[in-house]
Amino acid sequence: MEDFFERNKCLVEALKKEGLIKSRAVEQAFLNIPRHLFVPEELIDEAYVDSPLPIGSGQTISAPHMVAIMLELLELKRGQKVLEVGAGSGWNACLMAEIVGSSGKVYSIERIPEIAHFARKNVEKLGMKNVFIVVGDGTLGYPEEMPYDRIIVTAASPKIPKPLLDQLKGGGILILPLGDRYCQKLIKLKKDRKPKISEHGYCFFVPLIGKFGFTS
Ligand code: SAM
Repeated sequence: MEDFFERNKCLVEALKKEGLIKSRAVEQAFLNIPRHLFVPEELIDEAYVDSPLPIGSGQTISAPHMVAIMLELLELKRGQKVLEVGAGSGWNACLMAEIVGSSGKVYSIERIPEIAHFARKNVEKLGMKNVFIVVGDGTLGYPEEMPYDRIIVTAASPKIPKPLLDQLKGGGILILPLGDRYCQKLIKLKKDRKPKISEHGYCFFVPLIGKFGFTS
């Protein structure tokens, strides 16, 4: 266990040195939500390597550097309500829940029931009460709990799903990888009368499959 703690600290220091972890909030979340609790047992030794890892059904837990970039762009604050599309392992959902605190909430939608089950089991290990994993097509958002302060999509999107824009609060932030199946640009959108969109480099994610995503 101590070994994992050291490896996590080493990863966090490297991400800080690279300028990817910038804020105390993201640093603390990385330290408090250990990634080895979110990877399959047989890959536990690779948990603190800065790379995506398979989690079953052809899906992945994202690479730590990518998660750090997205979390910094999200500008999360305590008490906020967040929607994630693509729960995967549940790691990013728990990192966000740690930052928004017990007065905030994170709803994370996952399309594949087996993966949602894996995510729930991982969330339970930490006993987090403000993370809710929901099975469904996240391209439709989750209207039951709208509006959201922040929305993050963790799968490659051919366009910005309209339901997500509709469910985002005015002044809210949406982060998503926009592009085709093989190459995407990380997009940050700030909702305003005229949305402000900025680009934050290239990335590669598994596809977002659903009504407002890829068809298969
Ligand atoms: N955030 C995750 C984590 O912390 O491990 C990593 C997400 S993984 C890169 C992308 C996930 O998006 C996959 O588990 C995939 O099944 C899911 N996905 C793809 N299309 C989806 C959709 N329309 N709705 C919900 N989840 C979707």
